[in-house]
Amino acid sequence: MNFNEFLTFLLASFLSIFFGVYLASTHGITGFLIGVVVGLILASCITVAWYLLRKAYRRYWCSLPPCKKGVCRRRDYKYLGPAGLGVEYVCGCGDHYFKCGNDFRELMPDGSTKAYMIRRGVIRWEKNANN
Ligand SMILES: [Zn+2]
Repeated sequence: MNFNEFLTFLLASFLSIFFGVYLASTHGITGFLIGVVVGLILASCITVAWYLLRKAYRRYWCSLPPCKKGVCRRRDYKYLGPAGLGVEYVCGCGDHYFKCGNDFRELMPDGSTKAYMIRRGVIRWEKNANN
């Protein structure tokens, strides 16, 4: 569970308590307990659904350009996790990349990044001339 998923669960858990308080107003302590339990189950379902949606987005819909060597395509990248304000990927060749919004950068061994591609529109990638 990453920080965003934790926040989602926390928010959903608070909603479950409000749901319990709402049920307590009409059904007393039993209503409160049922409301909190049902709310926590809903919170867990929402968190898992959010996690699966994010994972599916990264795996199937998130467009990535070919790697610098021209060997790897979108499915050859492996998602490594959040890095700073973006996310880090490694391609099948072993080269590391950093993606932040529409900016896809090469991640150097010293941690610095080098401009590589920029996304125009939804899936069209162009060489990024800016550094
Ligand atoms: Zn590659």
